[in-house]
Amino acid sequence: MIRFNKTLQNIKTYEAGKPIELVVREFGIAPENVVKLASNENPIGTSPAVVKVIKANAIKAHLYPDDSMFELKEALSTKFDVEDNNIIIGAGSDQVLEFIARAVLDEKSSVLMSAVTFAMYEIYAKQMGAKVIHTASFQHKYDEFMEAYHMHKPKIIYICTPNNPTGDATSKEEVLKIINAVSSKTLVVVDGAYMEYAAAKDAEYAIEPNDLLKYENVIYLGTFSKAYGLGGMRVGYGIAQAGLIKELSKMRPPFNISTLSLAAAIAASKEVGFVEESIILHEEQIKRYEAFADENGLAYIESYTNFITYLFDEKLDATEVSNVLLQRGVIIRNLTSYGMNAVRITIGTKKQNDTFFKHFKEVIY
Ligand code: PMP
Repeated sequence: MIRFNKTLQNIKTYEAGKPIELVVREFGIAPENVVKLASNENPIGTSPAVVKVIKANAIKAHLYPDDSMFELKEALSTKFDVEDNNIIIGAGSDQVLEFIARAVLDEKSSVLMSAVTFAMYEIYAKQMGAKVIHTASFQHKYDEFMEAYHMHKPKIIYICTPNNPTGDATSKEEVLKIINAVSSKTLVVVDGAYMEYAAAKDAEYAIEPNDLLKYENVIYLGTFSKAYGLGGMRVGYGIAQAGLIKELSKMRPPFNISTLSLAAAIAASKEVGFVEESIILHEEQIKRYEAFADENGLAYIESYTNFITYLFDEKLDATEVSNVLLQRGVIIRNLTSYGMNAVRITIGTKKQNDTFFKHFKEVIY
């Protein structure tokens, strides 16, 4: 029998949102009738201009992509007013998280994160044998972070703002307060996967990579998977001081982004209108989820993201509600595995949300 690395013993495999194909296979529902509100993708889809670029680049599928990713770095450096050598590109920001864990952690290290946050921080840390410390609350509370920081001296602190899967955010002021209070020996990861939504909602929550670039021990992460509508293309980025990027780059395999993904991300990063349109739709539709909760006596967490988290009391069971909805072709995220009797719902198009409310109402009454 193979003796696997002992770090694997206490790792739970990441459970991704359920795909449409599963509902089609298991419940015999036609794909066009399945509503997927489980993975925080952009409900509008991909920008038609970007789709055109992806198609046009298909002819280059036999060629490896430009491994320097010059054009994408140029586009990002213009967008964020940073230098090319401040940027690392990953197959999703997920891969940048992996580079970070591998570059920094070993079995003597610990990492610190909020009680309920993006599951991959813990998985990558555990792969390296590091100890994972959670604060008591899902919110990123300064006092809780400081107490744990002084006790454990973590090598990495993860600040997920806005936070997945809860949807709340931490203000720029609070994030900077945590950063300013820790030694430069601790790497602070500011994960802004949903930042476009928070920035549109409230300027106090908007964090730009440039706000953090003066710190040698801070990295900002962003992604094309959410507001940019490119979840299937797998492109994310990290922005930090050149010295940190240089070390992380040693972990990056060659050609980690496909030719089509690279072309898509370059086109998407130059197109402002699509993100704006996505956010307008989102802001309109999320109000319906808030109103529904208020009208039906459901608690929810105020969201700074493209999803909303409904918190159930003892009258509703998140697993049961999610399963019944799944059988009806509506995929949402059950948060029971995070220790919460709650569900996370990605805000869809008007039509998708109509379908959700129709079924949800029948299921909860
Ligand atoms: N960070 C957070 C907070 C996320 O929610 C996600 C995706 N669910 C990621 C990072 C990774 O995103 P991607 O790999 O698609 O860029």
